[in-house]
Amino acid sequence: MKGKPKKSPREKDLTARYLAGGLDEDRLEAQKRFGDKSKHFQKRKTERTALLRAAGEEASGDVESLPAGDVLQVHSLFCEVEGDDKRVRICVVRRTLTRATSAFVVVGDRVRFRETTTFDDQERPEAVIEAMLPRRTLLTRADSFKAIEAQPIVANADQMLIVAALAEPWPKWGLIDRMLIAARAGGLLPILVLNKSDLAATRGGQRELHFALAALEHYRSMGVDTLQTSVTTGEGIATLADRLRGRTTVLAGHSGVGKSSLIRAIQPALDIRIGAISNYTGKGRHTTTSARRYPLATDGGQGGYVIDTPGVKLFGLWNVTRDNLAEFFPDVEAETAPEWRLESYQRILESLPG
Ligand code: GDP
Repeated sequence: MKGKPKKSPREKDLTARYLAGGLDEDRLEAQKRFGDKSKHFQKRKTERTALLRAAGEEASGDVESLPAGDVLQVHSLFCEVEGDDKRVRICVVRRTLTRATSAFVVVGDRVRFRETTTFDDQERPEAVIEAMLPRRTLLTRADSFKAIEAQPIVANADQMLIVAALAEPWPKWGLIDRMLIAARAGGLLPILVLNKSDLAATRGGQRELHFALAALEHYRSMGVDTLQTSVTTGEGIATLADRLRGRTTVLAGHSGVGKSSLIRAIQPALDIRIGAISNYTGKGRHTTTSARRYPLATDGGQGGYVIDTPGVKLFGLWNVTRDNLAEFFPDVEAETAPEWRLESYQRILESLPG
């Protein structure tokens, strides 16, 4: 790798703008969403004493023969599991299991559960999770590199849709690089989407726009799957729908870039920001506050799922070290990286524990 050429103050300023994170926006968004719903579930807590008691009792019988399902969402004391029969169960994790593995279930986890004879107040069957099956892929939280153990957030997703906007807001390339690494390190295929391509017409000629298009081309040259979309004109929406079909896709990217609009463009009935799902509470709508998996319309069973992770716009770089970071920057290794990618590499390198 060559030494870094010197930059003018103006260039430094521009690079800083491109690489800067918008974490404050994301925190605000998370706080806004973390409201009514958690109170709602705290209230439920008292209604679940029978289920919690069942979690503490001795397990019996053969775990292998129990029905399996996928975790849809984790709440503070219980989680929702969709069985392979498509029925949703309200579950708690067997306490001995939590102790033995020190593992918490996360959205996307595949589990085996034992049904109890109890039902919740919406007549949904309750069950105890007896086993957690091995994870194929795993995303962790952004702060987890400071922790001793990884803090999982999404399991078993196939791919990560990294959404940025061509403008409004301008892309933060440093964050996009981090998301690409988080996806790959977790075993997920990254797909980079530059949404709001219609804004090129009004923003044409601006320096940031040229930068964005050149950056997209650079990612493409490294073999990253990239798309340009517009919810307004419909550009790229069919291609995006095709990419999502039959897969489990985690949505990533800043608030305001158009994630929920893109999902609505593909499936008008699904509003991930409202938590969809009138059949979820049966009592009207509420805002989603934690990661949740949503089914995409089934075309002969080939629908796929999207996982929205409100408030978690930055995933951890678990297993990424100063020694192996260069593997995620093939352009840096090949000495073909433009200045902003070298800068991005340096920033991430410095953020990793030494
Ligand atoms: P999210 O926070 O990432 O889910 O973003 P939203 O889907 O809520 O979109 C944020 C804003 O951008 C909304 O006002 C949308 O109407 C707007 N928006 C979304 N997609 C596009 C697009 O392709 N073009 C334009 N011009 N605006 C868009």
